[in-house]
Amino acid sequence: MDGSVGPMRVLVTGGSGLVGRAIERVVKEGGGREGEKWIFLSSKEANLVSAQETRAAFEKHRPTHVIHLAAMVGGLYRNMRQNLDFWRNNVHINDNVLNMSHEFGVVKVVSCLSTCVFPDKTTYPIDETMMHNGAPHDSNYGYAYAKRMIDVHNRALFQQYGRKYTAVIPTNMFGAHDNYNIEDGHVMPGLIHKTYLAKKEGKPLQVWGSGRALRQFIYSLDLARLFLWVLREYDEVEPIILSVGEEDELTVKDAVDAVVEAFGFEGEVISIRDAAFKQCFFNSSTNFSFFPAVKETCDWFAANYDTARK
Ligand code: NDP
Repeated sequence: MDGSVGPMRVLVTGGSGLVGRAIERVVKEGGGREGEKWIFLSSKEANLVSAQETRAAFEKHRPTHVIHLAAMVGGLYRNMRQNLDFWRNNVHINDNVLNMSHEFGVVKVVSCLSTCVFPDKTTYPIDETMMHNGAPHDSNYGYAYAKRMIDVHNRALFQQYGRKYTAVIPTNMFGAHDNYNIEDGHVMPGLIHKTYLAKKEGKPLQVWGSGRALRQFIYSLDLARLFLWVLREYDEVEPIILSVGEEDELTVKDAVDAVVEAFGFEGEVISIRDAAFKQCFFNSSTNFSFFPAVKETCDWFAANYDTARK
C-alpha cells in the first residue's frame, strides 16, 4: 500500500500531545523505516480550526499519509461546561484535515476517535459496529458527536471517491506529556498528579468512587505502536478499537494501587463517593504490562513537574 507512492511522508496532527509524542518516540526508536519522513505538527505551526492555515500546512508538507490526532481535548467537567466549543472546534479541525487530505491526494488517513462516541445506553461488550446505535452520553455530546462525524466523513469519502481513510478508538490512555490537570484531565493523569501532591504535602490521597469500577487503560507507547500497525497494515474504512483484552481490564483500585506504589506513597487513601459502573470495550488483540508503564509515567511526571501540562 505504501509502496505505490514511494517512501511515506507522514503528517501527524496533534504531534505535540500525549499520543503524538509517543508516536514520535516509537518512530525514532525503530518504528520508522528508511526514507520515510515524519512531520509532527503542533497548533503553534497551524491552527487547524482555520481552513487557510490547514491548507498552508498541507501545501508546505505535501504528506502522503496523515495520522490525525489534533483535537480540543478535555476532561469531563470542561466538556460539560463547553459542549458548543468542543463541537465547533473539533468539527472544523476534522473537516479541514480530512478535506485537505482528499484534495492533496493523501493515500491514507488514520484519525483518532474516543470511546465516548458509543451510545450511552448500550449492551456490553461494545464493538465497532455499535457507534451510531443511539445518543452518546449527555455530558460530552459536543465532543462525542464531532468524533462520530469523522466516521461519517470517512465513509462518504470512500463511497464517493474510493478513499480508504479510517479511524481508531482508543480506551483510557496514559503516559508522558499528558495533561495532568486534576479537574480537566483524564482518570490516570489526574490520579498521578493528586498522588504526587499528597506525597509531597504529607496529606491523605482522596479518590472518587469505591475503586470497583472497571477500566481498560492503555499506555501511550503501546498505543503508538498500534497506530503504526494501523497505518501500515489495516486496510478498512471501518474504525478499529485499540484496547486491552477483557482479561487485562482493571479496577480503578488497581490503578490507584499502581500509582501509590510507583510513588512510594505511604499515607492514607480515602474514597469519596461510589461511582462504580462498568466500561468494557472488547478487543482481545492487545496486551501490555501495566505496572512498569505506570511507574515510567510517574517517574516522568516527577522529573518534569515544573514543565508538565497541569
Ligand atoms: P493532547 O491534549 O495531549 O494533545 C492535543 C493535540 O492537539 C496537541 O498536539 C495540540 O497542539 C493539538 N491541537 C489542539 N487544538 C488544535 C488546533 N486548533 N490546531 C492544531 N492542533 C491542535 O491530546 P491526546 O494526545 O491525549 O489525544 C490525541 C487524540 O486522542 C485526540 O484526538 C483525542 O481526542 C483522542 N483521545 C484521547 C484520549 C485520552 O485519554 N487522552 C482518549 C481517547 C481519545 P498544541 O499542544 O500545540 O496546542
